[in-house]
Amino acid sequence: ATMPPLLSAIANAGRHGVLVKSAVVMERLGQIDKVVLDKTGTLTEGSPRLVEVRPLPGFDGDALLALAAGAEHPSEHPLGRAVVAAARERGLPVPEAADFTSTPGVGVRATVDGRTVLVGTPAIAAGPPRSAPAGRAVAALEDTGCTAVVVTVDGEPAGVLGIADRIRPDASAAVTALTALTGTAPALLTGDNPRAATRLAGEAGIPADEVRAGLLPQDKAGAVQRLQARGHRVLMLGDGVNDAPALAAAHTGLAMGRAGSDLALETADAVVVRDELTAVPAVVALSRRARALVV
Ligand code: ADP
Ligand code: MG
Repeated sequence: ATMPPLLSAIANAGRHGVLVKSAVVMERLGQIDKVVLDKTGTLTEGSPRLVEVRPLPGFDGDALLALAAGAEHPSEHPLGRAVVAAARERGLPVPEAADFTSTPGVGVRATVDGRTVLVGTPAIAAGPPRSAPAGRAVAALEDTGCTAVVVTVDGEPAGVLGIADRIRPDASAAVTALTALTGTAPALLTGDNPRAATRLAGEAGIPADEVRAGLLPQDKAGAVQRLQARGHRVLMLGDGVNDAPALAAAHTGLAMGRAGSDLALETADAVVVRDELTAVPAVVALSRRARALVV
């Protein structure tokens, strides 16, 4: 017997490095008319590196980095891994953390060397009254395209870490192909700051008015739902725990497989196993061809 078109398409998607979980998903991929992308780990390589440590007065750079690394050690977030890797590279001890908690889209909290350490978005140290110097360090780092992560120790801002990630080499090719397939530019949804987000979007060919920054996981899902309420069928591509609600809300959810979190891989309808963004427009096109044969 000849293979039904949707099953052949699944086999072809596999050759492109995309694991499509069912024939229903293979069919739905061809229906999408709007693409929404996460930034960190999706449009970027997801192996960010620490590029700057800015301790606030009263704190030493190495001590700050060691405390932050202790708090981040249990984290599976790419930013957390960057902090731990930088501490190790500098030969710093990474102290044991107790009472670790992580809040997707915000950061981590732990007890390290008997002190309460928070590492996360600048909002954890919110407001000029708390620390104007921290705010200035954040702005200076973000202006260079970095993600600025604030460290607080026992409730006081202690310093700011600048972390930078590279855009994927095939990001702009994928954006061009997806724009051609859907007739509209993909949108970028990120928990990161607007400066880093807009800069990266520009490099990828995503217009500034398609960038939504500073989003919490539920905001990403909300953005997908609003697009769908306006009649779009959304393909969401993401990698993190913070993307899971949006992946679930989207008409079709795709996860980046190599560095993707378990929750994203489980929630998604398909997984980009080989680390290539251009595989996404390829499988959408495969689905459209298979659908044409089915009817
Ligand atoms: P994205 O949407 O780009 O994948 P996330 O939602 O994962 O980004 O993170 C959004 C922001 O939350 C980060 O830019 C950072 O400020 C903060 N954050 C999240 N997790 C961590 C962590 N483990 N350590 C430090 N900061 C974190
Ligand atoms: Mg991500």
